[in-house]
Amino acid sequence: VAPPSLAAGIDVGGTKCLGVVITPDGTVVREEKWPTPRGGDAIIEVLAELADALRPWDTLGAGVAGLVSRDGVLRAAPNLPGVRELAVRERLSAKLGAPVWVDNDASCAAVAEWRFGVAQGAHEVVLVTLGTGIGGGHVVEGRPARGANGFAGEPGHMVVDPNGPPCVCGGRGCWERYASGAGLIRFAREAAEGGRLDRAVDLAGGEVEAVRGEHLRAAALEGDHDARVVFDLFAWWVALGLVNLTNLLDPELLVIGGGLAEAADLYLDGVRRHVGELLYAPSHRPHPRIEVAHLGERAGAVGAALLANFPDG
Ligand SMILES: [Zn+2]
Repeated sequence: VAPPSLAAGIDVGGTKCLGVVITPDGTVVREEKWPTPRGGDAIIEVLAELADALRPWDTLGAGVAGLVSRDGVLRAAPNLPGVRELAVRERLSAKLGAPVWVDNDASCAAVAEWRFGVAQGAHEVVLVTLGTGIGGGHVVEGRPARGANGFAGEPGHMVVDPNGPPCVCGGRGCWERYASGAGLIRFAREAAEGGRLDRAVDLAGGEVEAVRGEHLRAAALEGDHDARVVFDLFAWWVALGLVNLTNLLDPELLVIGGGLAEAADLYLDGVRRHVGELLYAPSHRPHPRIEVAHLGERAGAVGAALLANFPDG
């Protein structure tokens, strides 16, 4: 399905709104990056101004982190404090005098990777965005699978340990407490406190509490054994969730996106190996391919621009 001639998409994140305008072949012809304001009313204002700054365009879509129902209402958004039950589609459409399509940001990213990125031609794709938390999107035969209400694809809150650490959602032991940036830092500090991460602690100025992803990554790139052990533990937890998703959905391709995709060279092989070990009946089935997303931080905005191709949800 070819998009209209100029399609605009805006990715509304916790800190920034990234807007793009793309041509039918996916070429980005305009781009704007604005800070995300606080509060629902301010977000609608900024989205309308950003949409105007991106003109001319023929269609407009928005991808938002959180639970977006099929009628374009942002029901709950853990990364946008105080924002809930925000009628993004209706209010933005009224301001602009044009139809607007709205979906979850990771679902948008999955659509974008299927259309222009690493998942082109794949029949069944699951994308997970590993960042501060975890988002997810599922594309079947080129269409986003949205579930009964639009809420499908929230793998970050699959419970992988009911006795695990508390989660922003109110539950415990959600996958995103482990396979996210926050999880990686927790593993690093636990290793550091046990005296098993000396090089990364050195790089952090000698303070265990100061250890960040950049120190862990730098140590691992130097070949530091302890840092690599932490990345392997992280890879195991990523694999655990991907195996749960594979047992449920049987995708041919799993795509890793989000901020942590940039460090995938340090854990992707481990993820592939652990998925091979943890998968149900591994010797009696093809294993899903596991690849890193190609579209980087633009994936959500490009996918939002494609939403007009799926008007009936
Ligand atoms: Zn949770």
